[in-house]
Amino acid sequence: MLGGGESGCGAAILAQQKGFDVFVSDIGKVKDKYKNVLTQYEIEWEELKHSEERIFQADKVIKSPGIPETIPIILDLKNKGIPVISEIEFGAQYTDSKIIAITGSNGKTTTTLLIGHMLKKAGWDVGIAGNVGESFALQVANDPHDFYVLELSSFQLDGIVNFKPNIAILLNITPDHMDRYKDLEQYVTAKQHIFRGAKTAVSNRQDSLTAQRQRGVSQTLTFGLDSPGQGNFGLAVHDHQESLFFGNQVLLPVDEVAMKGRHNTSNALAALALGHAAGLPIESMLETLKVFKGLPHRCETIATIDNVSYINDSKGTNVGATLAAIEGFGSNSYKNLLLIAGGQGKGQDFGGLKEAADRFVKCGFVYGEDAQQLEDALDSVTEVYRADSLIEAVAGAKSAARPGDIVLLSPACASFDSFTGFEERGHCFSQAVLSTVKVDSCEGMLS
Ligand code: ADP
Repeated sequence: MLGGGESGCGAAILAQQKGFDVFVSDIGKVKDKYKNVLTQYEIEWEELKHSEERIFQADKVIKSPGIPETIPIILDLKNKGIPVISEIEFGAQYTDSKIIAITGSNGKTTTTLLIGHMLKKAGWDVGIAGNVGESFALQVANDPHDFYVLELSSFQLDGIVNFKPNIAILLNITPDHMDRYKDLEQYVTAKQHIFRGAKTAVSNRQDSLTAQRQRGVSQTLTFGLDSPGQGNFGLAVHDHQESLFFGNQVLLPVDEVAMKGRHNTSNALAALALGHAAGLPIESMLETLKVFKGLPHRCETIATIDNVSYINDSKGTNVGATLAAIEGFGSNSYKNLLLIAGGQGKGQDFGGLKEAADRFVKCGFVYGEDAQQLEDALDSVTEVYRADSLIEAVAGAKSAARPGDIVLLSPACASFDSFTGFEERGHCFSQAVLSTVKVDSCEGMLS
């Protein structure tokens, strides 16, 4: 096992249960939580190093998705003919349960939890795993379910070989992780792996890169924010109200979907398509759509102060997500957004934000490692202020905002230059918004 986090530990426990001699090796520090688990299961582990002699003796290596394919130890393993697979691939070898697999550049977690709720509401025995919650392998080992919904990043998909989901979806593709992929095509290819061996493939009609390219898929379904056509999910006007449709059957007015924003309407349609493919009654799915409000740190309203709304979209870690947030909250009558963005750009081209910023962003506050690139991309279309930190950016936005405006944290960047992750960044934003006294540091704000 390379990597001693959630997926590494889960895979180690499953491997031990299946009679393998297991060793976990992590080049970083292993969290106490996982140290305790490994010790409890009497699984050998090491941290802050990779003992190559021992690792090169393995029959197979399970690699955490965070470890790039291109680092020397992985290349050496492959050269030696030692298979390197992902925890998902390994877990799938030990279950016959049905699997819904979900990928895309944005909306994975939201759609995963939404379809998970829909399945649970209908009384199905469901495990939700992948990038969320307990690892898939751990659930297969200790808490098996009839059905799994797996959120899969492109890194997890890089490590699958024989994994065959029953139903697979590719939600959308916008450039992301360009620091780990050679070009967009390589990233798309990684995402397309999700369809290999799938019985039903679900794609986004409005994003041609999501159309499945594999042979042998027996059913194809689509969703989109346009008119659906027979057998697919989409939007059309019914009784003067924009509504969700299945073919020509009207389902629900968009206004009654609890999750707000165009991108979330798209996620709702995606979940309906998945549920339909799985055999869920549409009525029951619609009940979930009426109450499922979405997740924290994804376009979450923190507060309205002096008639200014503050939105935490800390999970907006790429241009596609930030674009969705700007378009979702921008007003057509005046430039109402104060955008806070910054962090690590992961090699993205921020030029994609320009058009939307020109229409909707009154001013931008940029901070962090790639602030300069953001400033270069935006300063020809809106006023841009440089801040030394997120807290300073919030202070700037607070004093510049006027009644009716929206202060939107949607960084378009990873957070690791200043935070432990998007959650800490989101908490820091909320604290800075809600505090009347000056906040000097975000440390210890994780709750
Ligand atoms: P993921 O798991 O793919 O990162 P999340 O559901 O956690 O997706 O949402 C991540 C970010 O993407 C948030 O900023 C959210 O507002 C935005 N987002 C969610 N769904 C979509 C979508 N369908 N298209 C574009 N952006 C989206």
